[in-house]
Parts: sequence; structure tokens; C-alpha cells
Amino acid sequence: MKVEIITTGTELLLGEILNTNVQYLSRKLNNIGFDVLYQTTVGDNPERMRAVLEQAMQRADIIITSGGLGPTRGDITKEMVMEVCHTEGYLDLDTWGRIDAYFAKKGLCPSQNNEKQAYVPIGAEVLQNDVGTAPGLWLEYKDKIFIMLPGPPSELTDVCEKQLLPRMLQRFSKHGIIMSRTLHLRGIGESMVASKLDELIMAQTNPTIALYARYGEILIRLTAKAANDKEAVKLLDAMEAKVRKSVDNYIYGVDDATLAA
Ligand code: ATP
Repeated sequence: MKVEIITTGTELLLGEILNTNVQYLSRKLNNIGFDVLYQTTVGDNPERMRAVLEQAMQRADIIITSGGLGPTRGDITKEMVMEVCHTEGYLDLDTWGRIDAYFAKKGLCPSQNNEKQAYVPIGAEVLQNDVGTAPGLWLEYKDKIFIMLPGPPSELTDVCEKQLLPRMLQRFSKHGIIMSRTLHLRGIGESMVASKLDELIMAQTNPTIALYARYGEILIRLTAKAANDKEAVKLLDAMEAKVRKSVDNYIYGVDDATLAA
């Protein structure tokens, strides 16, 4: 399943905020076996957002947007997705009730413009947001799935963990998983690691082997595709053992290990 993540918001293009949503989504989706092939960022501009959505429909099966579900006129993601999917929105009373309750808990009333957040595209499923106002939305159009998520990272992660990822796993359970393991090396250069592992790298299929140089260390990332966690661990263990035969003396840790530790 090819996935494109579209993060929206002019503040991202201006460099005012770090695009943590794209990192979070990419990691999570890769970990459960989806191929995130494109990451696009676009400002809150209707023409450009429409063009980006149309381009994503040409090259991805699942298109995930982040941001632009807020109550103001500048929040246009849902409206643009509805446009490219040729559908319209209706006021979803359940969602409106939830928004009302969210404000009531804080002793407040929703503004008139919050009603915009309770509009759901016809045919979409609501991905409940327990920590904010705008729900996520899952809309299928032809053979594409559009998933719209709120921009604030705390809301996006909450909707993902509780609603989206379980739903994606259930829907595409035959899909398998991707698991990575990173070996950290010190005291050897990248070219030397590459030549020591040349045969393995040339023959790699599953797991794949990738080398990265970073902050005075070399990383070897092994990535396995498998039907389940157990099989993936088995594949990674076997490949790690082969790698260690050539560079074991230089490996000081695995995954989150730090040199200091
Ligand atoms: P709101 O209802 O708060 O308007 P929204 O769904 O419309 O939410 P945005 O207005 O696009 O989302 O973003 C709200 C805030 O969330 C931004 O000001 C920013 O702080 C944060 N945010 C948005 N997108 C990202 C991102 N890709 N990575 C990190 N933070 C983000």
C-alpha cells in the first residue's frame, strides 16, 4: 500500500514550526508495513492544496493529511479533499455534541465557527478526537483512501493511536510488518564498513542493509519485511549475526543505545 503524507500549514513552509507530525506518521506507518513513498508539505492555499491532493491521487493509495481542520477560514484541508472527491459535507450531530461537551468541560461554549469542525464529508467515517475539537476523518473515493488528521501533535497522535492505526491494521491485516534494527559502530569509517560488508550489501534482499554516518559514529540499519513480529525478529537476528562476523569489534550498541551508556 503506497502512502503519501501531506502536511499542511504555511507555518511549516516558513520554518516557524518543526514538522514533527510527518516524522511521527512515517515511523508509525512504516512500522506496521505501509510504504510511505511521498511526504509533501503545502501551505494553506486552495489552488496549491488542490494540486497536491490531485498529484497524490495519481501516485498513492492512501493519502493522509495533517492540519487545516480548525474552525477558521484559513483551515481548508477538509474542504479541498471534499472538492477533489466530489462530495459535500453535512452537520454531524454526534460530532457537534462532542465538541459542545469538550467546551462544556472547560466551562465554555463553542463559537459559531466551531460548527465548521462538525461538518463531515458524505460517506466519511469519523475518527474521534478525545483531546481536541476537530475529529479525524476517513473518506474513501474510488480506489483511494483519504485520511484527514488534526494538526496539533497531541491531537494527531491521540487520534492515530486510538482510532487510525488499529483501523488500518484491521483493514490491511494481511499486509505484514516492517521492522528495523540499528547497530551503532564507533572507531571505523563508513567506507571501511561498506567494504567489510560488501558481499552482504550486494546480496541484500530481506532484510535490507543501509549505512549512515552520524555524529562520529556509523549506523547500520537492518530492515526486515515479514508477516509478523516473530518472523521479523528472526530475520533481523540472522542478518545481525552475519554483520557481526565482519564488524563485531566496532559495534557498541543496538537501537537506542548511547555511547555514554
Ligand atoms: P486547530 O483546530 O488548532 O486550528 P488544525 O487541524 O487546523 O488545528 P493547524 O491549524 O494546521 O491544525 O495546526 C495547529 C497547530 O498544530 C499549529 O499551529 C502547530 O503548532 C501544530 N502543527 C500543525 N501541523 C504540524 C506538524 N506537521 N508538525 C508539528 N506541529 C504541527
